[in-house]
Amino acid sequence: MNTENKYIVILGAAESGTGAAILAEQKDYDVFVSDMGTIKPQYKKQLQNRNIDFEEGEHSDSRILNANEIIKSPGIPDTAPIIVKAIMKGVPIISDIEFAARYTDAKLICVTGSNGKTTTATIIYELYKNAGLNVCLAGNIGKSFAWSVAENNFDFYILELSSFQLDHMYDFKADIAVLTNITPDHLDRYDNSFQNYVNSKFRILQNQDKNDAFIFNIDDEVVHMEMNNRNIKARQYPFTQKQKLSSSGAYLEDNQLIININSDILTMTIEKLALQGKHNVYNSLAGGIAARLQDIRKESIKNCLSDFQSLEHRLEKVAEVRGVDFINDSKATNVNSAWFALESMNKPVIWIAGGVDKGNDYTSLMELVHDKVKAIVCLGKDNAKIHEAFGSIVDTIIDTDDASEAVLSAFYLGLPGDTVLLSPACASFDLFENYEDRGEKFKRAVHDL
Ligand code: ADP
Repeated sequence: MNTENKYIVILGAAESGTGAAILAEQKDYDVFVSDMGTIKPQYKKQLQNRNIDFEEGEHSDSRILNANEIIKSPGIPDTAPIIVKAIMKGVPIISDIEFAARYTDAKLICVTGSNGKTTTATIIYELYKNAGLNVCLAGNIGKSFAWSVAENNFDFYILELSSFQLDHMYDFKADIAVLTNITPDHLDRYDNSFQNYVNSKFRILQNQDKNDAFIFNIDDEVVHMEMNNRNIKARQYPFTQKQKLSSSGAYLEDNQLIININSDILTMTIEKLALQGKHNVYNSLAGGIAARLQDIRKESIKNCLSDFQSLEHRLEKVAEVRGVDFINDSKATNVNSAWFALESMNKPVIWIAGGVDKGNDYTSLMELVHDKVKAIVCLGKDNAKIHEAFGSIVDTIIDTDDASEAVLSAFYLGLPGDTVLLSPACASFDLFENYEDRGEKFKRAVHDL
């Protein structure tokens, strides 16, 4: 691409913005970085080392709005004043992913969905790495994609993509697209329109043609219905736990995971999967297809899926204290992910839930809570909705507002053979910095018991 006279502005200087700045500078753009907040020292140092011009604590219109192109951090909403002004002025706004993809010929395997992105992307990454491929995991996880494109030479990228990144991707094309599921989330950023959010997730398919692959959850009614309304050009590989498939895809039969790619079949018993729970069966089915599409050997896939280490904050076993199990699922920030956590429990549960409610509808949890939960410990500033939803089916619901208090209360309520499950169904920002902070504090409190 001709970068002569090309002035590029990067908004947001955390991992993705700094990575984009490094790549843009390397490609000889004239680069300016602007962050409304304070830039973390490690990123500031990277910019300074390369003499990249930046500002913090403000967005100066005069330096931003004359850009030829703006790269926006996914954390900045389209309603932010500087973005509104840029849109009015007609400055193209792209995501760091769109930008970085211009500069690599690597094969791009992209994962999106409301839940299971990190887990599925990590499974695919481990499957590829274990098979000896030259692969990098990037996007929403770990190092920024742009940064890696600037400094490495990978053959494959496994990219975890949020809907916010997809919203600003136009010419990008995934060689393999994976859609895990779609349930209501982040609707505040989509004018409270579920269809807008669905459209955003389906951007993962844009520009795909018959040489590309689309791996999707056919059990997800939203995904299934939306596909009927679209002309999908990519080869389709559904995965399901509800039916047997007669063509390529992945499904379950008699507790066997079956992955069929062009009539070449891999089978594996689900008991051997390292990541247990119905949701992880979905994630493993999706990952298995992505690996078989790259012709990774069946033995290698089976070994990897049975050795996989569980991910932090996602149904992570913390400890057993006097017969009570403690599980950290702090990443469950919406109702659907908490549903899968509760579904996978096979002992009486003391459920720690609550936080910032993103317009939650708890109806889908009623049956599971009725059958499995003996007490609820709320961990949030405002727990009214949880009392209202479950007050009639759970006898004990108590309020707490810090992790140690929640863990202690749950421990007192527990008997040997019970499980204490932190799976909040809510975001964490009322009491914690983020879900990692919530999970860390929970684990520390368990270890202090
Ligand atoms: P994401 O990156 O999309 O947020 P994660 O893999 O980090 O997804 O998992 C987020 C939460 O959702 C965790 O609580 C996890 O146990 C749960 N989860 C993981 N995979 C799925 C899935 N396929 N469907 C529903 N929930 C899932």
